[in-house]
Amino acid sequence: MLGLLRSIVQEVNAATDLATALEIIVHRVAAAMDARVCSVYLRDKQSGRYVLMASKGLNANAVGQVSLAADEGLVGKVVSRAEPLNLEQAETHPAYHYFPTTGEEHLSAFLGTPIIHHRKVLGVLVIQQTEKRRFDESEEAFLVTLSAQLAGVIAHAEATGALNSISRQRREAKFNGLATSPGIGIGRAHIVAPSISLATVPFTQCDNVDDELAKFQQALSSARKEIRTAGEHLKHDLNREERALFDAYLSMLDDNSIAVEVYERIRQQLSASRAWAEVMLEHVRKFEAMSDSYFRDRAADVRDLGARVLTHLYQQHNSPQDYPQNTILIGEELTAAMLAEVPREKLTALVSVKGSANSHVAIIARAMGVPAVMGAQDLPWEQVNDVDLVVDGYRGELYIHPSAELRHHYKEIVAEEHKLARNLDYLAELPGETTDGHKVHLWVNTGLMADVVRSLDLGAEGVGLYRTEVPFLLRDRFPSEEEQREIYRQQLQAFAPRPVTMRTLDIGGDKSLSYFPIEETNPFLGWRGIRVTLDHPEIFLAQVRAMMKASLGFDNLRIMLPMISGIGELEAARNLVNRAFDELLDEGYTIQRPPLGIMIEVPSAVYQARELAQRADFISVGSNDLTQYLLAVDRNNSRVAGIYHSFHPAVLRALQQVVTAARETNTQVCICGELGGDPAGALLLVAMGYDELSMSATNLPRVKAVLRATNKTDLKRLLEQVMQMHGPEQIEEKLQSYLQALGFKSLLQSFPSPRKPN
Ligand code: PEP
Ligand code: MG
Repeated sequence: MLGLLRSIVQEVNAATDLATALEIIVHRVAAAMDARVCSVYLRDKQSGRYVLMASKGLNANAVGQVSLAADEGLVGKVVSRAEPLNLEQAETHPAYHYFPTTGEEHLSAFLGTPIIHHRKVLGVLVIQQTEKRRFDESEEAFLVTLSAQLAGVIAHAEATGALNSISRQRREAKFNGLATSPGIGIGRAHIVAPSISLATVPFTQCDNVDDELAKFQQALSSARKEIRTAGEHLKHDLNREERALFDAYLSMLDDNSIAVEVYERIRQQLSASRAWAEVMLEHVRKFEAMSDSYFRDRAADVRDLGARVLTHLYQQHNSPQDYPQNTILIGEELTAAMLAEVPREKLTALVSVKGSANSHVAIIARAMGVPAVMGAQDLPWEQVNDVDLVVDGYRGELYIHPSAELRHHYKEIVAEEHKLARNLDYLAELPGETTDGHKVHLWVNTGLMADVVRSLDLGAEGVGLYRTEVPFLLRDRFPSEEEQREIYRQQLQAFAPRPVTMRTLDIGGDKSLSYFPIEETNPFLGWRGIRVTLDHPEIFLAQVRAMMKASLGFDNLRIMLPMISGIGELEAARNLVNRAFDELLDEGYTIQRPPLGIMIEVPSAVYQARELAQRADFISVGSNDLTQYLLAVDRNNSRVAGIYHSFHPAVLRALQQVVTAARETNTQVCICGELGGDPAGALLLVAMGYDELSMSATNLPRVKAVLRATNKTDLKRLLEQVMQMHGPEQIEEKLQSYLQALGFKSLLQSFPSPRKPN
């Protein structure tokens, strides 16, 4: 059963368009289940009706013609219940609706299962038989499993198909993702693919067919030469069988039929790389779908050969480092390092298919003030290279081929944004305090040097979190102690005499260094943060030495430890810091011992907050990770982004518990997660007793404006009410109306609320 399922899904996956995919489904399912009829109905986005899109067994001329409303007929019943419907005698069911064009009068048994993607019923898969009988449990289970697996494939095929035709006709199209970093980006898509692979070659067309054909031939002959040379070099190291692979590669390259297929596509104006990738992928899929395991394994060879030729093709193209003005960076899973490669002045926005608003690349985008949309799952990202785009980071939307009207609308919003930013400038000079004089220290989170200037201009009182891993992420090896000292000194110097909190290296989880890969099944629960650096004291010592050396003459350094889950880790780290400090004194440095603090971002640290606070010089809450660990919701997974909620009552109770423990032990306490930079979150935190909030520079004026409009007594009352509530949605609503009553139109007061063009 499993093998059958897998092979159907694989075959469907290999289909080049939706129509072929549906044909494969109906034919393969009808045969596998020995059913008289198998049909697929899909929801038409315009009308909302479920249209018969493919059928094995019903009249061919009914396909595309017959459709049902979401509450009509048996198909409608499956849609409205979002559950399978298994009937012995369909025609006696009250919802039965007979369509003469289908020719289904001789059918009785009916089994329909919903095809559900992201909680929406995309369509219905139906099998029918002539005799009166109920499909048995195993048949029903098979169809349910298949529908669940096909949902994603169909959704992707639909989006890809739609986009292909849109790309050719250059029509405007909209895709949704998660609003990650506010702002509007108007520009051109630049795709970053993690490595050269057939699957990630963007859909690009060519202007000059002859040039493209020549490029392709050149790439083929270079690849041939390369394979021959490699075969020669390894002649003595490989046995005959192994050498045969090189001959197989060569004969594939000499296979005229493959080249002819590629020529044909290039003549239809596809770029050589795209044409080659499409043809080779079709061959890969054919091999993968074969039942013989020997042939299935050959798929990897074809893929490898394809990538080799691609490399030669890319070498002839422009360097990938040529970023256009107004670059909108797009990738399947963007990383901080990819982001860092684009010169800031050219970067307009980011779009990532995977990832969520709480991933590190998202945080960096916010820190840099770059609009971003993450989790744009249905965007066929490989096909939008060089296409005009508008990214709406407020709403989590993006438009390809935007119309002149839409562009104009968004240009107006950009102008409005600039005006509002200028209006908030006056706040830089004013203190962060409530109307009844309660002072709140507003600090910034930094990582790049670019953050520093903006932060100072905006009136930051210090750095609550300097993410030291950012300079590590941007290199191809560990920075030396001296390189680190120079980087850290810039931060300390720029902010002196204001305090700068430097967090020791926090890698692992989603932040892996290319030169120190950590591969784990469960990286967020694995070797991360302090766990890595305690296991590598040489890395930790070099880093804290560099920090302390850099503080010479400024003495504004605070050292902070990430991911502390118990007292032992704090003590072990303190011993290392003390050792480094003593060494530096011996080396003649006249520096002060920096305060040593910890981050509270693991549930165990919440329960031990009092003991930890007694032993640390300060504590700082990392609400991003704390939310992820308390709610067991991966902060990078867009599938569960909807339930990642820092306003969850459990998170709020934990935050209250930490600040109470800090107050009772007289320990300085700060919050440096994203919640502190959210105007509504900031209000709650101040009411709880947090007097230091650290946030990305972009959010600082907004938070200050909101705090300066309210008083602490009201905030305490608000907190009391919120703490009685049971769900994050209710809490958010309450906060929203509180902000509105203060005169702020939305949670994000300074954001213009984009009106939609009609
Ligand atoms: C946090 O977890 O809240 C935090 C500030 O650290 P990071 O986002 O870098 O993991
Ligand atoms: Mg963290």
